[in-house]
Amino acid sequence: MTLQTLSDLKPELPQVDAVAKRYADLQSSFANANDDAQRAAVVDQWNQLRKELDTCSNLIELRFHQDTANKQYKEDRDYMDSILPKLKEYAVDMMRSLLNSDHRGKLESEFGKLAFDHWEAEITTYDPVIEQDLVQQSKLESRYIELQASAEFEFRGEKHNMSTLNKFAESKDREVRRQADEMRWDWYQANGEELDDIYDQLVKLRHGMAQKLGFENFVQLGYKLLHRIDYGQDEVAKYRQAVQEHVVPLGEKLRERQRESLGLEKLHYWDLSLFDSLGNPAPQGDHDWMLVQAQAMFDEMSSEIGDFFKLMQKAELLDLKSRSSKAGGGFCTAFPTVGWPFIYANFNGSKGDVEVFTHEVGHALQCYLSNDKRVVDYLWPTYEACEIHSMGLEFLTWPHMEMFFGDDAERFRQVHLTESLLFLPYGVAIDHFQHLVYESPTASPADRHEMWQEVEQRYLPWRDYGGAVYPSKGGAWQDKRHVYLSPFYYIDYTLALCCAMQFWLHAEEDRSETIDRYLKLCRRGGEASFLDLVESAKLISPFADGCLTDVVQKAAKALGV
Ligand code: ZN
Repeated sequence: MTLQTLSDLKPELPQVDAVAKRYADLQSSFANANDDAQRAAVVDQWNQLRKELDTCSNLIELRFHQDTANKQYKEDRDYMDSILPKLKEYAVDMMRSLLNSDHRGKLESEFGKLAFDHWEAEITTYDPVIEQDLVQQSKLESRYIELQASAEFEFRGEKHNMSTLNKFAESKDREVRRQADEMRWDWYQANGEELDDIYDQLVKLRHGMAQKLGFENFVQLGYKLLHRIDYGQDEVAKYRQAVQEHVVPLGEKLRERQRESLGLEKLHYWDLSLFDSLGNPAPQGDHDWMLVQAQAMFDEMSSEIGDFFKLMQKAELLDLKSRSSKAGGGFCTAFPTVGWPFIYANFNGSKGDVEVFTHEVGHALQCYLSNDKRVVDYLWPTYEACEIHSMGLEFLTWPHMEMFFGDDAERFRQVHLTESLLFLPYGVAIDHFQHLVYESPTASPADRHEMWQEVEQRYLPWRDYGGAVYPSKGGAWQDKRHVYLSPFYYIDYTLALCCAMQFWLHAEEDRSETIDRYLKLCRRGGEASFLDLVESAKLISPFADGCLTDVVQKAAKALGV
């Protein structure tokens, strides 16, 4: 049956015994294969199996996010979490067989050496001794997601969740901003003990897994889990240093300019999201209107992007409205057996809706354009490369922002660029914090709050929480989902931003050539490593000397700073 919409996709929950049997068959077919063609056929079958399992687990994860209060969705997710380590074990065994095969050379020329590099990284990250730890990790992560999704606020006579409360951070009325900020931190304060406890357990658990796998600490394991093949901790530390030296001083200038334009004596934390006294630009219509605008925009940009977005709408591959018990955040997921991506967001009526939307469409577009890759490991690149597709599209849609913001489009572009630059220090702060945390796994929750304060002073000196006690004492990192759910991922956004801004600068010179080059990069999916992809897209590596400074200087010039 051909699927019309996502609701037609109803994969059966995988049963461990059945999966074990399929893997045993693959292993014996591989061992008994008579020639290269037969061996390659086994790898193809394995890819098909992995696509089926990924499709199922991604759908279950999505349903849980869409309604965290639904018992069946939660049960399915718990079940999937309980068997995922087993599935990983079988996959890792298969990788070992391929890596150790006498015919590896032939297989590498058939499927590419990069897949083998990924598998080399992957096999070091799993051993059956950590099976229960992984199940426990998923449970703790669920606790964090559910806790945040359960937050309910009564603000100015209306009910709000975390996402919808956040829109008041951009209110023109300073007192509204301050009150919403206070309410938000009060929630973190009230749940601080639990948030600390979840993280404390996660850190110790992750450290324990790293040690069981023979790593010194979780930093090394964390990098392996992200399959960082081209670079390591030294390059990342050097990059953070460059941000501290070249972007933090610029950030101070941008904050000073913001203070002046708001006409305030002092910028407090609750002022940081508002960029001028006219108010931040906001989309001029609701969710349905935005989809109509988006379709017209993509049609204008390229027929390929336009057709892709028609499919997203027709097959119901979007869930963008905020509602109660829906988990926060925005992300893109995918169902590789059908080649469909899916976009998830929580619109709240602010300009962020347009940003999150164009961002996630960038991911979805790459996923859709590279879905024909033969090896599952090439469907997506590593995350820092993924974020070039998403942030790249945020910038490449700039000339069309009139369609969403009308006469405020130019102001939107200015604010978007300002926030992008200010994001760099925040992004590396989150990264630096996690290095400190995982390098000192026995630290107490109070120590961690101190670590965050130290990092904030270094990279975000303009933060002043006013009278809010909880963040003033170092608790502000707890609202960052990645710290709990995706360790060490965060620096990837800053690396990608440095590349995405290059696409923006190139597009100012030659838009159509740049869009072609961007689409070409998307089509490559994950068939190359981060730095190879960057080079092939004629971008300069963010680790190259002077790259960051150059990009940031040009952006600052565009802002007249
Ligand atoms: Zn992204």
